[in-house]
Amino acid sequence: MKIGLKIQLLRYIFFSSKLGRNILRFLSIGVRVRNLKDTSNDKLSRKCPFLVVITIDTEAGYVEKNQRRVWQIENPRAFVGYYYGIRNLMRIFDKHGIKTTFFLSTQCFSAEGRDYKQIKRELNNVIRKGHEIGLHLHPDSDFSIQKKLSKKFDATSAFFYNYEEKLRIINAGKELIKENLGKTTYKDLISFRWGNWALDSEGSKALNKTGFKVDSSAVPGIKGHTLDTMKHDWSKVNRHYPWKLSISNYQTINHNNSNIVEIPIATFDFFGSKIRADPIYSILLNKAFMEYYKKADRSKKPFPFVVMTHSSEATTKDGNSVQALRDLDAFISFAKKYDNVEFVTLREAYERLNNNYIVS
Ligand SMILES: [Zn+2]
Repeated sequence: MKIGLKIQLLRYIFFSSKLGRNILRFLSIGVRVRNLKDTSNDKLSRKCPFLVVITIDTEAGYVEKNQRRVWQIENPRAFVGYYYGIRNLMRIFDKHGIKTTFFLSTQCFSAEGRDYKQIKRELNNVIRKGHEIGLHLHPDSDFSIQKKLSKKFDATSAFFYNYEEKLRIINAGKELIKENLGKTTYKDLISFRWGNWALDSEGSKALNKTGFKVDSSAVPGIKGHTLDTMKHDWSKVNRHYPWKLSISNYQTINHNNSNIVEIPIATFDFFGSKIRADPIYSILLNKAFMEYYKKADRSKKPFPFVVMTHSSEATTKDGNSVQALRDLDAFISFAKKYDNVEFVTLREAYERLNNNYIVS
């Protein structure tokens, strides 16, 4: 195992162990949200709702007993990440009566036989219950897209493809959704997230061209995998409110040259490291929620707090529950207790916010 992966695994073990969680509870005082001006002294700043937008990157994989993650790239045919993962998550969403957004990697449509049937059944349930389906791209582990375009792809990140290729990849994903989930779901497809948050400028241009209205690839302040095929870089962005995505320089927030609204994933600082709002960080997610809830300006429009998780992190290989799932459940219970909090899909957030995103 590479050293980076070892450290990652140790983090997962730490975040899910009893001792680790108690230490975190103690240390959660270290959670800070930079670049969010504190408006908590102004009563008007809480006038509009605080929207919690739970998003699920829906892909192959599962969690092993020792907390190691098997990701789609390692085992693209671990379809349990789709059907068991979605099923486990839906149990929680049903229990709380909330709507969420599933960013679907179309790799699931390369499943066959029983696997395919089980995936379809779970996705139909998701659609029937009014959750949103968005598109999620992992070109290197998406055999459906590769088959459609008769081409093998070696990278996840948008940085490794030219504009024409990106256009073809996005369109292939859209077509696969139409073929497998039907015209209505295809027509409703307006939200997007590039795999590993790895969007770039030409990728934004291609998204604009293909008619998407919402992107949620941004993790403000965070970059990673800068030397490999999962390269992503949002380190220059320091805004947590939505903005119009730029198609000429994707990290610039005031270009106003596209029809796409960027609704970023919530990010925060924890003793110097940058973290995204994700239930794998257990108690820190609740703390980050409190910071945003207290500080974000909602005087003129609602504030969308975007949380992300993976369907593959919601199941073991056999379909059993995992700690991240229990933490997500606990987070929802926790957030529900706050005044004026609503759980919505990204589309709904987009519609509710929809008037003016121009940043001057
Ligand atoms: Zn992904």
